[in-house]
Amino acid sequence: MKINLFGLPLSKMTEEFVSRGQTKFRAKQIFQWIYQKRVLDFEAMTDVSKAFRAELSRDFCLDLPKVFTRQDSEDGTVKLLLELEDGAKVETVLMPYSYGNAVCVSSQVGCNMGCAFCASGLLKRDRNLTPAEMVGEVMAINAILAETNQTVTHIDVMGTGEPFDNFDNVMDFLDIANEPFGLAIGARHITVSTCGLVPGIKKYGLDKRQFNLALSLHAPNDEIRREIMPVARAYPIDELLDALAEYQENGGRRVTLEYIMLRGLNDTKEACDELASAIKRHKVFALVNLIPYNEVKEKPYRRSDRDQVRFFADRLQKQGINATIRKEFGSDIDAACGQLRVKMKKKEGEQDA
Ligand code: SAH
Repeated sequence: MKINLFGLPLSKMTEEFVSRGQTKFRAKQIFQWIYQKRVLDFEAMTDVSKAFRAELSRDFCLDLPKVFTRQDSEDGTVKLLLELEDGAKVETVLMPYSYGNAVCVSSQVGCNMGCAFCASGLLKRDRNLTPAEMVGEVMAINAILAETNQTVTHIDVMGTGEPFDNFDNVMDFLDIANEPFGLAIGARHITVSTCGLVPGIKKYGLDKRQFNLALSLHAPNDEIRREIMPVARAYPIDELLDALAEYQENGGRRVTLEYIMLRGLNDTKEACDELASAIKRHKVFALVNLIPYNEVKEKPYRRSDRDQVRFFADRLQKQGINATIRKEFGSDIDAACGQLRVKMKKKEGEQDA
């Protein structure tokens, strides 16, 4: 089996090449060819000796996922369904913000967390994504952006999957993303979103890397949280918020608390006040990001009225909690997490039947 170079952070590639008698700088050169010049043909890498080019072709490859379908929204959102080597499919979304181009990266094929409102969970996790496959998601979006001389500037690991259930691969991927000779994305422009695996949050907090953290909270108390997120049975809110406070003591910056607004369930005045007091009680430095729910046909939940979302945000602000309302992207395409993949799987199922 050839090793896919897209899966190796600079440190690991350097180690690999040095063990083959190359200089320490060889990996940097290769990084520049593949990520900066986007040259994927070993033979074209003219500053590498002929002998090592032959060795590269023999033992390594530069494989990227194939674009299986592409949906373009009127607002500039692009949603790709990528096909991986084993035929598995994952979604990647480009979200053009005013401040830059963010990619929402999937970290697993399917997801096991089973959140009641989420389309991804309709299909169980098949496997973890490799670092090369996650790099491939960003490369696929970069290829589209290259047409207009742009590149990806922000990465959110917020697509399908639970990143802390695939910790090491996600970190290798983000090292490649953050590497100046690699995808060259600043640590502050990288965010990992977790459904709340406390051991993962602790590990992330102790790590030397300086990426951002987002937590999908979605509820002000355990009762509501358990109803919509099975993970809440393992980790109560008090434990979660304490883990966030501890993360911040270890040097972590402001965390984003994601909060999907579900009509009549977690969007009431009482829920708002309970949320504000929990954040204050645990002394978490947080930005609450209220997310308009993207309704999923197979699920019973409904999105909150726009006025209610505004009211909730204002009421949090009045209690001294920073709150924003997430901009919606691609509402005219299958934008909700996992929707495109579910639709495709169903089609495949129909064909198989
Ligand atoms: N497992 C991680 C990352 C993937 S989910 C996590 O839970 O954070 C990314 C975000 O999208 C989460 O906040 C998730 O709750 C939210 N989400 C899932 N389905 C959604 C939907 N239909 N509409 C809006 N947000 C959704």
